[in-house]
Amino acid sequence: MRHTSKLPNVGTTIFTVMSNLAKEHNAINLSQGFPNYPSSQKLKDLVTKAMNNGYNQYAPMAGNLDLRLAISNKYNLIYNSTYHPEKEITVTAGATQAIYTIISAFIRTNDEVIIFKPAYDCYQPAIEINGGETIPVQLSAPNYKVNWNEVASKVSSKTKMIIINTPHNPSGTIWSEDDMLQLQKLTKDTNIIVLSDEVYEHMIFDGEKHQSVCLLSDLKDRSFITASFGKTFHNTGWKIGYCCAPEALMVEFRKVHQFNVFSVHHPSQKGIADYMQDSETYLGLNDFFQQKRDLFLNLISDSKFKFKPSEGTYFQVLDYSEITDEYDVDFAKRLTKGYGIAAIPLSVFNEKNKDDKVLRFCFAKTDETIVKASEILRNI
Ligand code: PMP
Ligand code: GLN
Repeated sequence: MRHTSKLPNVGTTIFTVMSNLAKEHNAINLSQGFPNYPSSQKLKDLVTKAMNNGYNQYAPMAGNLDLRLAISNKYNLIYNSTYHPEKEITVTAGATQAIYTIISAFIRTNDEVIIFKPAYDCYQPAIEINGGETIPVQLSAPNYKVNWNEVASKVSSKTKMIIINTPHNPSGTIWSEDDMLQLQKLTKDTNIIVLSDEVYEHMIFDGEKHQSVCLLSDLKDRSFITASFGKTFHNTGWKIGYCCAPEALMVEFRKVHQFNVFSVHHPSQKGIADYMQDSETYLGLNDFFQQKRDLFLNLISDSKFKFKPSEGTYFQVLDYSEITDEYDVDFAKRLTKGYGIAAIPLSVFNEKNKDDKVLRFCFAKTDETIVKASEILRNI
């Protein structure tokens, strides 16, 4: 049998490659982004209770209504922004499925989608398998600042969508209000849809404010927000997330969603809905992760790695140019095999040959792991 790959340039994701390498060499795994401490016992008890109370059959296609209400309340509470729980919020199998489904629902052959690189790895394959063309805007370490004139020069009559991500994985930078105003201005009076990947909205440091697209009304009207309970509630393996959008966009989203997943794990949805009744469960995350970032950075402050403190996410980018000029993928592999610590090289998320000599380290780890990892990094 012969077939032509629809994604000829796609291999195994760097997250899988590095996590497998870490396992093989018994290295401390700060590569793939996931916590190594247990998630909340209360949340696990609430999911168990939901199972015992009969939440074991299909959830409604758009998601358990208690959960959609809890999500809607969150947007009112934090952003003073209203999403109708029945018409404008859909629960998904993680943010990944939300992103794939949004792109599938709107992108046709030859449509152009602008993304900012380094870009999280699931955007481009989803665009291309749907026949779209990725139009990259490459950003650079250490600030990853957007030049909005450059973005404007890439918008054409074919531009169907712009994908943004703040707080940003992998760089740990955040967008300012001015960035959002520039985006709003650029897309005004166009038919461009904005996909705003906000999975790290509750991990933002030093008193900064998350710039959600829902804060600016013109932008909100053309945008999807995607979010991940795996990130927010330290359960990446549960694969539950959601998206919000104005009704007209959500109608199209659900046409695809009902056939590529229909609905997602019901007891987890009910458990999360009950857990979210206490807003501290998500509002407390900024401090929780800032403490971990600060512990990590204090411990490696006298190492040869240079850094700009992460502004958001649970990732810290470290510049290793004082140590070696090796290609970042080679250095990441050497660190794993030779020093017992795994990280993610950023070049894999960039345009070809763009290597800023930086690696991404995940600090969603126990303090004990952070201390051990820092000890290794200080001795390199
Ligand atoms: N977007 C970004 C920027 C991510 O880092 C991740 C990984 N959590 C996702 C989307 C996917 O989230 P999920 O695990 O909920 O599918
Ligand atoms: N979002 C996680 C990260 O950035 C990886 C998820 C995955 O392995 N696909 O590390």
